[in-house]
Amino acid sequence: MFEENKARLQALLEPLSANGVGHWIGGKRAQAKSGATFETRSPVDGSLIANVARGDAADIAAAAEAAKAAFPAWRAMAASARQKLLHRIADAIERHADEIATLECWDTGQAWRFMSKAALRGAENFRFFADRCQSARDGQNMPSAEHWNVSTRTPIGPVGVITPWNTPFMLSTWKIAPALAAGCTVVHKPAEWSPVTADLLARICSEAGLPDGVLNTVHGFGEDAGRALTEHEAIKAIGFVGESSTGSAIMRQGAETLKRVHFELGGKNPVIVFDDADLDRALDAVVFMIYSLNGERCTSSSRLLVQNSIADAFMAKLAARVKKLKVGHPLDPATEVGPLIHERHLAKVCSYFEVAKAEGGEILAGGARGEGSGHFVQPTLVRAKPDSRLAQEEIFGPFLTALTFDEEAQAIELANNVRYGLAGYVWSGEIGRALRVADALEAGMVWVNSENVRHLPTPFGGAKASGIGRDGGDYSFEFYMETKMVSLATGAHKIQKLGA
Ligand code: NAD
Repeated sequence: MFEENKARLQALLEPLSANGVGHWIGGKRAQAKSGATFETRSPVDGSLIANVARGDAADIAAAAEAAKAAFPAWRAMAASARQKLLHRIADAIERHADEIATLECWDTGQAWRFMSKAALRGAENFRFFADRCQSARDGQNMPSAEHWNVSTRTPIGPVGVITPWNTPFMLSTWKIAPALAAGCTVVHKPAEWSPVTADLLARICSEAGLPDGVLNTVHGFGEDAGRALTEHEAIKAIGFVGESSTGSAIMRQGAETLKRVHFELGGKNPVIVFDDADLDRALDAVVFMIYSLNGERCTSSSRLLVQNSIADAFMAKLAARVKKLKVGHPLDPATEVGPLIHERHLAKVCSYFEVAKAEGGEILAGGARGEGSGHFVQPTLVRAKPDSRLAQEEIFGPFLTALTFDEEAQAIELANNVRYGLAGYVWSGEIGRALRVADALEAGMVWVNSENVRHLPTPFGGAKASGIGRDGGDYSFEFYMETKMVSLATGAHKIQKLGA
């Protein structure tokens, strides 16, 4: 499989290196109007993958105009036709899943074992929202004494979608599929560190028959292309996934044009392990939820809170597992942790090794760069203090910070003692306690006796500095659509006669 993956990669890289990655505007491939490009390089060996169009406000304006022009016809298309089209896109994603996963691994450093599934999740996202096209406009019926009041929903208009570099293909589909199902047209600004599969998505959608201008992709940096998208008058809303500080910037940038915003931001998610839990399963979940996807995962359980009565034994077993994680080439199916996406991110994660030493953290595993010239780091486990930077800041790498507690109340206090509130994980054999703790956690999502298992109809999103709004099921339509009320008089009710 490794050899097969590498051969596929070589075949995919040739056209990429020859043609580069362009924007996709109004159904056509386009270079940046300025002619500027930037490079995307592989975190495995630093080799050039492609030169990428570097968009700015002029390219965003062209894409926003294309999205605006395509909007009336897309909004008017019968929901059943839209449904079929989105299923066709899902079919095409499935057909191209190996290519998507291969390029994603090479561009981001994420391991094949996760990216091959993530590509298929992209197809699932399209299928799920395809089947909701028919109910997207549904509303309520609220009759009163003399009026028949109904609500309905209409697509808000062209929207901007701005995505990050961790699992970029899957995350893009997660935002774009519901927007299209709602009847919105889209301008997508993918992360500059992972442009390759966004280009593939635009092509796949176009080849599947998505009308020109319904999905437009503009590459470039956050401060120019991203910013211009958030400021453009024709763009009615911004669906954003990324860092909390970028969310704040987008809110400021969008204020002038009164943008509706939906934010999925950072996290420092606790996993609480009580001594009455199934400790073998808890151990598996703890390891999986921080070391899968290189720890570059918003819902990673990056803070372990373990009860003191079992802490030493649990931590010893955990450290042994962490030391045995297989770090390697992302296209090798045996690899569990790949290289980090970019040298700047590598430097950020590695800087926390120094923080750990300075704060007196006890390094139980890892704590250094990995071998070779790629952006490898050793999977790391550090026992730290609750108010330390290690316990407070989002590191976004294969780096687990462990804390201990004596009682339930202390576990809750520690868990909530961060600015973030995306997800929480509770492990306990006592169901009453598990529910009490789940209820007390300041988080948008809590899993009890489980790792993160996503069910698409359920609300996904964060509290506190982790986000605003929810995705998933009908929640996505609340964002991409306006709710309209229509009131019909059912008879000749009395109307006040002024000036009569
Ligand atoms: P980032 O905020 O640096 O960048 C995300 C996107 O925003 C990129 O496309 C970037 O170009 C763009 N951007 C940057 N500045 C901008 C600006 N001023 N205006 C408009 N756009 C701008 O985030 P990242 O480093 O790419 O991704 C990692 C972060 O994403 C982590 O904090 C992670 O927790 C978060 N994340 C959250 C979720 C979630 O669902 N909550 C999911 C995945 C990732």
